[in-house]
Amino acid sequence: MPYVGRFAPSPSGPLHAGSAVAALASYLDSRAHGGAWLVRMEDLDTPRNVPGADRVILQQLQTLGMQWDGEVLYQSQRLSAYQRAFDALLSLNLVYPCACTRREIADSVLRLQGHFPEGERPYPGTCRSGLPEGRQALSWRLRVPEGQTAFQDRWLGPMSQNVAQAVGDFVLRRADGIWAYQLAVVVDDAHQGVTHVVRGEDLLSSTARQRLLGRLLGLAPVEYLHVPLVTDEAGQKLSKQNGAAALDLSEPLVVLQRAWEALGFDPLPVMDVKGFWAAAIPVWVQGQSRANLHGINHRFYDPR
Ligand code: GLU
Repeated sequence: MPYVGRFAPSPSGPLHAGSAVAALASYLDSRAHGGAWLVRMEDLDTPRNVPGADRVILQQLQTLGMQWDGEVLYQSQRLSAYQRAFDALLSLNLVYPCACTRREIADSVLRLQGHFPEGERPYPGTCRSGLPEGRQALSWRLRVPEGQTAFQDRWLGPMSQNVAQAVGDFVLRRADGIWAYQLAVVVDDAHQGVTHVVRGEDLLSSTARQRLLGRLLGLAPVEYLHVPLVTDEAGQKLSKQNGAAALDLSEPLVVLQRAWEALGFDPLPVMDVKGFWAAAIPVWVQGQSRANLHGINHRFYDPR
């Protein structure tokens, strides 16, 4: 099967050092496989979109010598496809309406199961068998089947998660009417014929949910590779939310070399962006064939 890779930024701001590493790794992996490299703008979360950020990101990619194939796909143009996937799950009785507010979920989880850090609380299933009396639907959730969802990560090794226990029935359509990232990403990867997803480790905890959704929708499974996150001096993940600086592209080669070193490679003895790619691609191919993959001990993942 021909290789199709992609980079799927959210246009909530320019690329920073962390997203540059994800872009670099996915571009390298596509080119190393002689594959296509697509760019998709994940612009569904309209409150977070920053006008013009999409064009800035595309300009940044070009400056870094990452040329995408075909047209850039905007998720805001794909709403009817998400609706169709949602309807398919609905007709299989795999979706139900939920009236719970965030606060209610937090309170009931605390009562039932003790302390979970913010953002990592499994949904306790309150509305699974029907909306409580007099309450209205806010969001729509997937009825997650019991069992392990396993996959092989090309960087991290065998991964497995019990989605029902670790996450619970997760949201497909948010209370504000916006399609959830988990649904859109699965529908679009299939629509675009993506075979290989290469992205940052911050998305590792979403992968089992996405595989599960893909399976329920009858879509072909994809390969995954999650690259380590870039952290700041305090060990914090770099993200737009915590104000990571936009890349300084006055010296694109410096940006590429830093991202490359963040992946664990030595700087390349090259003079310019073109030289960088010519040298980096064969090194990536070699690195892939060496068994240089490290294991991790992620909270929700146990090696098989
Ligand atoms: N849009 C997501 C983000 O910027 C990435 C989606 C993905 O690579 O699956 O975090």
